Amino acid sequence: MNGKLITGMTENREVRIYVAQTTDMVEKARNTHDLSPISANALGRTITAAAMMGMMSKIDKEKVTLQIKGSNAIKLMVAIADSHGNVKAYMSDPQAENMYDASGKLDVGTAIGKDGQIIVIKDIGMKEPFLGQCNLVSGEIAEDLAQYFAQSEQQATAVSLGVSFGKDAHVKYAGGFIVQLLPETTEETIAQLEANLKGLAPLTQQFEEGLTIMQIAGQVLAGLGLDELEEYELNYRCDCSREKMEKALISLGKTEIKAIIDEVGEAELVCHFCNQKYHFSELELITMIEDSSAVLS
Ligand code: ZN
Repeated sequence: MNGKLITGMTENREVRIYVAQTTDMVEKARNTHDLSPISANALGRTITAAAMMGMMSKIDKEKVTLQIKGSNAIKLMVAIADSHGNVKAYMSDPQAENMYDASGKLDVGTAIGKDGQIIVIKDIGMKEPFLGQCNLVSGEIAEDLAQYFAQSEQQATAVSLGVSFGKDAHVKYAGGFIVQLLPETTEETIAQLEANLKGLAPLTQQFEEGLTIMQIAGQVLAGLGLDELEEYELNYRCDCSREKMEKALISLGKTEIKAIIDEVGEAELVCHFCNQKYHFSELELITMIEDSSAVLS
């Protein structure tokens, strides 16, 4: 299921922007995990944010994991994105009960709760991964992420994330943007950007009005010019495989696999991200121990 992302800079090279449209991806996540509207809204924001963060990476094999730990109805959301636009996600509470704020909108902030954390792990598959962590500000995710960038990465950032639903609870629009000030941004640029952000309609309303992500980028950076535009495809898909599951099993160790053989006689592993089931027979488990003995012992 495809989404789209554009990235670009202002003409004076002082601000970088990422804008993503992730409607189909969030709808796929909703179907895969059978999400209630508030869960789909919360996970949709997380997926959108992770997709943009994955594309910030210049390193080919880098993976970004975005974790939101909540303190209320939603305890944990995990989205993993790579630098090619692929995102997968799961959450601990797919059927969180819908709650609404005073204006009648789904209250994601309250469902997640303020006493949680946002955790970002960047892994290039080699040395120690980078780990950044920061307390939540509001549980609305966009605000929390802006705070994370300011605190953990010393990067002045504005974030907007939004998910809206059609009458039959399907995802109607989902998307977001991240705007980052580069070092030595002038006061004039900051003032212009602040005025632009203040005047913006909510993101899902902009989609509703038929604006493209390019037009949204143009509005956010109005008066500053838009340059160095690049467009990418985003996908919600899982990269699990039988081979990876087998590796995970082997990593449990010989004793553990032997215990599985003795107690259950077979193993069924379920991928958290896509619910795909992987079945390993007794014979396959025995082969695993034999094949891995050279490596493990
Ligand atoms: Zn999977």
